[in-house]
Amino acid sequence: MLERIERKIFGGERLTREDGEFLFACNELTRIGALADHVRKKICGDEVLYNVNCHVNLTNICAARCKFCAFGRGGGDRGSYAMTIDEALKLVGEAAGNPNLSGVHIVSGLHPTWTFEHYVEFVAAIHEKFPALHVKGFTGVEIQHFATISGLSVEEILRRLKAAGLQAIAGGGAEILSDRVRNELCPKKCTADEWLNVARTAHRLGIPTNASMLYGHIETHAERVDHLLKLRDLQDETGGFRTFICFPFLPKNTALEHIRQTSMWDDLKTLAISRLMLDNFPNIKAYWVMLTVPVAQVALSFGANDIDGTIHRENILHEAGATSPRSLTEDEIIRIIREAGRIPRSTGGRS
Ligand code: SF4
Repeated sequence: MLERIERKIFGGERLTREDGEFLFACNELTRIGALADHVRKKICGDEVLYNVNCHVNLTNICAARCKFCAFGRGGGDRGSYAMTIDEALKLVGEAAGNPNLSGVHIVSGLHPTWTFEHYVEFVAAIHEKFPALHVKGFTGVEIQHFATISGLSVEEILRRLKAAGLQAIAGGGAEILSDRVRNELCPKKCTADEWLNVARTAHRLGIPTNASMLYGHIETHAERVDHLLKLRDLQDETGGFRTFICFPFLPKNTALEHIRQTSMWDDLKTLAISRLMLDNFPNIKAYWVMLTVPVAQVALSFGANDIDGTIHRENILHEAGATSPRSLTEDEIIRIIREAGRIPRSTGGRS
């Protein structure tokens, strides 16, 4: 069966649902990795994308309280915070001490009392003070939340954020695009269809988005494949996704601490299968914060052509026990990429 899949890939034929499920059941990791590396080289060449960026998490106070999240807090909980606009500008200003800083990535909790207008003010203030920075922000979950609390349509929400300076939408919040999984893990979040609708609407308005998959919790391999196929179908329709990112679930400090963390084997295989199934995605990211730097570097030979960015100060995943550093220097990222025999290319905050 693997030989048949190899023939399909070398013949440029699209993989089916059954092929994807077979690959997850197959333990020939290095052969699957080599196939993904072949596809990566064909689609992306030898450049590896990275960002000199900073992450801004405006608040960790969140009305959703997903079971897999170690970041969200109740309003009165220890460690809860909500930034002011000045605090957000100060954080970006600190990161802008690096003259190569080119992007800001904003994702936050669903604050129970903030209005949509308040989120727009953050974007406008950051864009006004740092007009050269590419502002990517808010997941599909946040955008749907803004629509719900404001009574505006998703399209109107996106138009207003774009007018304030938002240039791209972050890929998070997709988790697994299955309502079975979402009802069990994050019932207060938008549905799978709502998440896809945000992406579809953004693409129609000319706003690129990323897409992600959080795996390694209660989902089945068939649900992982189904998730990838939903993204592939939408990309066929719109062409608006820039980058796909696999997030392995980190259980520490979550309500699912009893679940064993994914292995490097699973992480590399999932990333490679994603590259093979998502034949219409331009970029596959190895997110070093979750994978760890050594695994992300190896992932560059398993289908990845993007290693994310310098980040400046990562919070969300360190709450869940991420053991990677909170930031990397640009020199470190370049070294990691070159050591893997590839060519570093800064995206100007766009990946
Ligand atoms: S994953 Fe996002 S929406 Fe869910 S609890 Fe955490 S911050 Fe809130």
